[in-house]
Amino acid sequence: MRKPLVHGEPVSSRAARSMGTTLPMTFGYHCEECEEAMWSTAPRGELEWLRNREHVAREVAKHVQGGLDTWIVEGLAFLDHHGGHSIVLMRRS
Ligand SMILES: [Zn+2]
Repeated sequence: MRKPLVHGEPVSSRAARSMGTTLPMTFGYHCEECEEAMWSTAPRGELEWLRNREHVAREVAKHVQGGLDTWIVEGLAFLDHHGGHSIVLMRRS
């Protein structure tokens, strides 16, 4: 039995993930205005959370300098670079 990783993430997102597919899929952000994409190893739910709670993630980032997962750092950098643009979640198959 696999123990879920606990990073202080919302319980709902962990529950949703355990019910989801186990196939490895790559999700990422795509800026519709710049036609630029960023792919991540993080699951879709995490990327959705980061995009919707960008301000929360930035607050967290301030307090855990150096302790953030790479995908969060990269995701925030992308969202920062494309601030105000239309960012959509994409799946790479
Ligand atoms: Zn952009």
